[in-house]
Formats: sequence, C-alpha cells, structure tokens
Amino acid sequence: MTEDTEVTLPDFSPHRPILLVDADEVLLKFIQHLELHLESEGYVLNLETFQLAGNIREIENQAAADQETVKYLIASFFDKHVDTVPAIDHAAEALQQLSTVFQIAVLTNIPHKHRVRRQNNLHSHGFNYPVIANSGGKGPTIKKIQQETSQTIVFVDDLPPQLSSVATHAPDTYLVHFVGDPRLAKLINKAPDAHVRIDDWRELKAHLIDYIK
Ligand SMILES: [Mg+2]
Repeated sequence: MTEDTEVTLPDFSPHRPILLVDADEVLLKFIQHLELHLESEGYVLNLETFQLAGNIREIENQAAADQETVKYLIASFFDKHVDTVPAIDHAAEALQQLSTVFQIAVLTNIPHKHRVRRQNNLHSHGFNYPVIANSGGKGPTIKKIQQETSQTIVFVDDLPPQLSSVATHAPDTYLVHFVGDPRLAKLINKAPDAHVRIDDWRELKAHLIDYIK
C-alpha cells in the first residue's frame, strides 16, 4: 500500500481571510499527553532544549533514547492516543470568535491514516474546522492555498522551521509563533521568521481581530 501524499485542501471562499492553525502545541497539549505515554513505556521527558530528541530518557538509568526509539515512542503515541489529546486553554473560545472574521482550517503534520481520528479529537473540543493532513514543510501547501485567493492568510505554528518554510514559499502570509506548553515556551525565543510571538489564545484572538481590521 502506498501512502497518499497528495494534500487535500478544503474549499475556501475567495471572500474571507484564512486562518491556518497547527494542532500540536497550538490547539492540543501534545507534550503533556506524550509524557503520560512515555512514562507508560518506561521513559521520561526532561525538557532542557526545544526538541524531543535528546530529552527523552529511560527512567531506569537516565540514558537518552536513541533516534529509532524516539521514532517508535512518537509513532506509538499517535497510534494509541491521537483521539484523546487535551485542548490548549482558551483556544476553542478564541477560534469560535475568530470564525466570525476568518475561515479557519487546521494544518497539521499527521500520518494520513490518523487524519480522521485527529479530526474527531479536535471536534470533541469544539474545533469544528476542516483538517488538512500535511507532511513535511507547510510552505508548499500554503502556497497552493495562496494561489487560489487574494485574501490575507494567517498561519500559527510552534515550530520555527515550519514558520520558515511558509516565509520561503508563501511570503505574504502573516506568521504567528505560538508555543502552548509554558515549559517549552521558556526554552525558545520568537522564531526569526515570525511576525509576532504570542503564547495565549485570548491575547492572540485580540491581536488577530485588530490585525485584520
Ligand atoms: Mg506543532
């Protein structure tokens, strides 16, 4: 079986601005939920730098998990728990209000096989928006969306390389760096390519309403 690599896009109206939001650490408490899974597998997350590799350690001897193990632990997390990741505080209310101005979609890097389960998880928290299952850099996907509209596009993500990908491929996009987990947020400055760094949805909502006026 071959993985479907073609990204399916929702039908955006040409008349309203578009807000594209990442899921993990923007709408969903990925790290916090991952920690429970790691513990059940005998590992612990010591957040010393803004990355998973090197910070996942065996509980028994504190040895850093190797690359293969990290890959396995993250894949098994998605297999088992993609349905039950809790929501980031205030995100659902903020998006609800922003949806009066923006058309919203979730742009998430997730294996295609998990798209529907992720969508169900998001819907359970009140995120009733189309889910775009992406893989790799998000810039080319946003470029495709940009070619279909003359409206403003806003993109929100926690990962600096994703913000850079969009800055490169779809440079007119307004880029927001948002890091949901306060421990992670402390470990990283504003991404160089982001226009703004905001880690609280109440503040981001007010900022975007103001921005789009
Ligand atoms: Mg993320």
